[in-house]
Amino acid sequence: MQLETSRAWIEIHLKNMEHNLREIEKIIPQKTKIMAVLKADAYGLGAGKIAQYLNKIGIFDFAVATLEEGILLRKEKVEGNILLFSYTPLDFLPLVLEYDLIQTITDFSYAEEIAKQNLPKKLKCHIKIDTGMNRSGEKYNAFSTLTKMYRNEKLEVLGTYSHLCTADSKKKKDKEFTELQISRFHHCIKTLKEEGINIGKTHLQSSYGTLNYQELDYDYVRIGVLLFGLHSAPNFYKRTNLDLKPMCFLKARITSIKIVKKEETVGYGRMFKAKRESKIASISIGYADGYPRNLSGKDALVLVHGKFAKVIGKICMDQMMIDITDIAHVKVGDIVTLIGEEQPIKAEKLAELSQTITPELLSRLGKRLPRIYKE
Ligand SMILES: *Cc1c(COP(=O)(O)O)cnc(C)c1O
Repeated sequence: MQLETSRAWIEIHLKNMEHNLREIEKIIPQKTKIMAVLKADAYGLGAGKIAQYLNKIGIFDFAVATLEEGILLRKEKVEGNILLFSYTPLDFLPLVLEYDLIQTITDFSYAEEIAKQNLPKKLKCHIKIDTGMNRSGEKYNAFSTLTKMYRNEKLEVLGTYSHLCTADSKKKKDKEFTELQISRFHHCIKTLKEEGINIGKTHLQSSYGTLNYQELDYDYVRIGVLLFGLHSAPNFYKRTNLDLKPMCFLKARITSIKIVKKEETVGYGRMFKAKRESKIASISIGYADGYPRNLSGKDALVLVHGKFAKVIGKICMDQMMIDITDIAHVKVGDIVTLIGEEQPIKAEKLAELSQTITPELLSRLGKRLPRIYKE
């Protein structure tokens, strides 16, 4: 008996991640390496365990969003490069050094402020170029400031990168914008190199940039969602179809079963009304576990004994109800799969039904859910 499986949990199949990694490697240029993006605790799946496994299968390049996420990986004995995407306040830069992390330099003024700090050694960094997303980065054509950034004595520049903002769209004007970003990045690094500047490793694409612009041959692709065997949304544009295996399975138990008569209602607000005599099960998971409450009344499905059952009524904080009228031999204690590999319960499908994208759905899966790793 495992306490972790007493109520609701997430099963994480690490072997599937290795499969996904090998699939991605097949479509990228030989010289390009995968940088695994494990921000937000590896999209909720547990950054420490996932990075340790990636180390075992030969991945030594990582990115996270925050300083704390980077420190956590080091405390978990993760080896290799760890890039921080976000700004780290100046007072905390000594920790970036202490834990051997790589800071993103988000713009010129940040570089100037860093230069004024009394740091014991050079700060390892990648310089971020803004090619049109207007989120972070120094402007792609601000060559005089860019040059000063690379020549900043306090920085050890190991890389240069930018980020695409419409790589997941098939619309003509979005593709044109991506092409524009690509050409700006290309021109920027070419000009810097011609100045004799060492720009370090280069990278531009995340998952969709990799799927849709796979011929680009920078040093890295930064991969998040694809590594976990998922797409961000079922309808996002993908030129390349990979054979991905979802690695995350959300499960809960049946805690009670009852018969409700025709016309009776179930749950808060009496949202569900039985059209026939129905067999209804409560299951031990709710919106506090990250199953979105806005899936109430949307005919979301779960898997019980290999058959699909509808989620009915309002999703509660710790429980929800499903209609198992047509499924035989279900008993209290049985396991229900809410997110899995079958099309109707794929994370991207549920995310879409909940009007969001897969990374939001995954990263909001609750702290209360134990993560169980299978190799
Ligand atoms: C989140 C993020 C990624 C990874 O995105 P996916 O779409 O999950 O692959 C890559 N680069 C940056 C800068 C990011 O913020």
